Amino acid sequence: MRILVVSTNTLLKPLPVLPVGAGMVYSALTAAGFKARFLDLAFVAEPLEALREELRVTGADLICLSVRNIDNQVIQQPESYLSFLQQVMQVCRTCSSAKVLLGGAAMLVMPGELVKELGADYGIKGSGGEAEAVRLAREIERGQAPETGTVRNADPAYHPVYSRIPPKPLFAPQYFIPNPRIKKASMGYQASRGCSRHCIYCSEGYMNAGACRIPAEQFSEDMKILENDYQVHNITFVDGVFNHEVEETVEFCKLIGCTSPSLEWSCALTPAQVTEELIRSLKENGCRFVDIGADSGSRQMLRRMGKQFTTEQLVELGHLLEHYQLPYSVSLLFGGPGENAETVQETVQVVNQMNPVYILASQGIRVYPHTALYHIALQEQVIRAEDNLLFPAYYQSKDYSADLLTDALSASRHIYKDMLMNSIGGRT
Ligand code: SF4
Repeated sequence: MRILVVSTNTLLKPLPVLPVGAGMVYSALTAAGFKARFLDLAFVAEPLEALREELRVTGADLICLSVRNIDNQVIQQPESYLSFLQQVMQVCRTCSSAKVLLGGAAMLVMPGELVKELGADYGIKGSGGEAEAVRLAREIERGQAPETGTVRNADPAYHPVYSRIPPKPLFAPQYFIPNPRIKKASMGYQASRGCSRHCIYCSEGYMNAGACRIPAEQFSEDMKILENDYQVHNITFVDGVFNHEVEETVEFCKLIGCTSPSLEWSCALTPAQVTEELIRSLKENGCRFVDIGADSGSRQMLRRMGKQFTTEQLVELGHLLEHYQLPYSVSLLFGGPGENAETVQETVQVVNQMNPVYILASQGIRVYPHTALYHIALQEQVIRAEDNLLFPAYYQSKDYSADLLTDALSASRHIYKDMLMNSIGGRT
């Protein structure tokens, strides 16, 4: 059976993101003995034409479409990518009679809805889709294809054969251009799947309530591949692997230091369970930058957003990082339920007690089904039950506006930036 794996993401800003998940599905199918091909639409001038040509020349019996984003998540300039995805589907249908399987990060959020909207045959939801893709391909090959419209749950556990880093030549060289901030080739790396926290806007906890970390042996092998084959010596852990229990996290830091003593890395950290031992361990084992996913510095807002830490813990984390000379950023999210002039000012005052390198501030929150925020938005009539949330829908507190933030920033010691690193205001 011929299988074509397509990474449909064409977004190149702020930085092109390596389609590791799609590559992993390709590698898993190849390892399972299927004749697979890989097509990345990111750097081709005419993505739809490239797909058409690939299907015309090589053909396929199964097309695996990996979908990363369904929109840009920017309330000020919402942009949906659904029409592009519909065009991709149309090319698949007109140039081939292959079954179409949907996977990728977007399938974490609204799997059933996306399969239906795009008219795909099957879907896989959740992290760990590579092993499930192999299982499904085998069923199709045996003539035991599931019913059209079936969406399967992926098993988040790391598979010893299928959950492997794909070979570097699979990816365009543009992905490995040095990161302008650190002036080195850098790569994102996911070391765990799922999340045990419960931020009210996030579907990750709902989808994979238990977090599952990559086995130590597999992690060590991955690091060797990154350093030797990929020639990458700087990685960003893109998941919440450092937000697990402290002892486990300290052990993981030691594993990094022991496996890859010269590796430099950055990570995200929650202030919820930080100890001095953990920060020391980060520093001693190659960590060079930390992003604190705070969302807010207001006591009330932290509670309402489902964050499991206090403002004191947030400031304490900043001071510990400063003590160990670990530079850090703070990520904030304004406009959540109950946000008002007072809570915005409180956040600015609390962050004033810290010394981050920069502060990322988003305004308005994308609403996804099955989240606590969805029910709040429904109750406050920000959305209606019949709304199709595949199209951008945002929550913003009725007592919040961008002007409140601009005003509050007149008292800020720091510059606040938006997601594209444009300055919003600040520094008195
Ligand atoms: S920490 Fe919160 S936002 Fe991050 S993955 Fe977990 S639930 Fe989602």
